[in-house]
Amino acid sequence: MAATGPLARICRLSSIICRNHCLKYNIGGQRRGIASCIDPAHGLTDEQKEFQKVAFDFAANEMAPHMAEWDQQEIFPVETMRKAAQLGFGGIYVHPDVGGSGLSRLDTSVIFEALSTGCVSTTAYVSIHNMCAWMIDTFGNTEQRERFCPDLCSMEKFASYCLTEPGSGSDAASLLTSAQLKDDHYILNGSKAFISGGGDTDVYVVMCRTGGKGPKGISCLVVEKGTPGLNFGKKERKVGWNSQPTRAVIFEDCAVPVSNRLGEEGQGFTIAMRGLNGGRINIASCSLGAAHASVLLARDHLLVRKQFGETLSNNQFLQFKLAEMATKLVASRLLVREAASALQENRSDAVSICSMAKLFATDECFNICNQALQMHGGYGYLKDYAVQQFVRDVRVHQILEGTNEVMRMIISRNLLSES
Ligand SMILES: Cc1cc2nc3c(=O)[nH]c(=O)nc-3n(C[C@H](O)[C@H](O)[C@H](O)COP(=O)(O)OP(=O)(O)OC[C@H]3O[C@@H](n4cnc5c(N)ncnc54)[C@H](O)[C@@H]3O)c2cc1C
Repeated sequence: MAATGPLARICRLSSIICRNHCLKYNIGGQRRGIASCIDPAHGLTDEQKEFQKVAFDFAANEMAPHMAEWDQQEIFPVETMRKAAQLGFGGIYVHPDVGGSGLSRLDTSVIFEALSTGCVSTTAYVSIHNMCAWMIDTFGNTEQRERFCPDLCSMEKFASYCLTEPGSGSDAASLLTSAQLKDDHYILNGSKAFISGGGDTDVYVVMCRTGGKGPKGISCLVVEKGTPGLNFGKKERKVGWNSQPTRAVIFEDCAVPVSNRLGEEGQGFTIAMRGLNGGRINIASCSLGAAHASVLLARDHLLVRKQFGETLSNNQFLQFKLAEMATKLVASRLLVREAASALQENRSDAVSICSMAKLFATDECFNICNQALQMHGGYGYLKDYAVQQFVRDVRVHQILEGTNEVMRMIISRNLLSES
């Protein structure tokens, strides 16, 4: 069946961009040959391979050459992200009638994995933006979808997801930001912590309390930048994820129209968690891209670095380590793709499998990147080498979108409740 809409655009661009693709991926600004046993194209349809190539080439040409600079100078690469949006990456799993690409969760994972080889931090922000756009597309009414989604899909406007508060992180349902109904507005008071994009973005998807304690008292409001009473904290200084700002988002008698509420009152926590199921696959996919890149960087270093009179690649300990890294990368990818399919098919195990994928892939991929750094010796610790940035950027994936301890809670709760 011929592809239509944004997908057709992706495929057309792919055939132009990829004419000289030559089975090479560009990682950390250097050309790298694919190792077939870890090739992320295995098992994909021809169409998926097409947009995977587009994403890899975008990562190679538009992101990798800048990833160190964006990190060190803390640049939020707005124009690069808008270029990515022209390829359909601003609303990958948003419906086409409001500007999205209408692709599947698996397609999305493939794209984020490829983009991350060029810059994890930027891709991770794009993934959060996609999650917000999907939440508005899925839970918004016609007016809200038409008002917000087209500008988000083109990345003319950027979005942030606001759940965490200073006093509620893992126990997100205890959030305190209040939204009191007054005529046709909610009056918001409270603050959100660690908000990705905060201060630089335009659309804030905010979970707030309109009712009693617990998850059923939470609603979801879309707050637009410029609304009086919407303020921001200082830009946080971080270990990684430096190409995107992180700030507190503060509400002081911030009046938000009732017409900006997504879904019904009390539905906000469900909306937040539904968003995060996909968010967890996306963030795990970003870890896959970093690990893939790091395995290739480590391999190439072992092939050229000589110690004790021979290249490190002749050392069996390091050979075995490299083999383990490759094996864990492929195992992580299989689990992430299985989770993406489970979510797409709305399977009953989807929440648990998404949690397993996030837990396993973000832990294993961090270890892979860290091991790759170790294989570089002292050079791996220098900012001239991309591997240290992959390590720093993926570390936080074990913490956010639900910590990996919270993932264990979700999985074990499911196991124990079905005994
Ligand atoms: C760079 C960055 C970007 C972020 N972006 C966003 C964003 O865009 N939007 C947003 O809403 N949030 C965001 N967050 C927040 C993130 O989701 C939270 O930091 C995370 O959920 C953990 O919450 P916490 O930091 O309050 O840790 P806490 O909940 O205080 O946890 C501290 C530690 O205790 C563990 N722990 C807690 N309870 C238990 C338990 N019952 N059993 C076992 N272990 C437990 C945790 O796993 C963790 O290891 C971001 C965070 C960072 C660092």
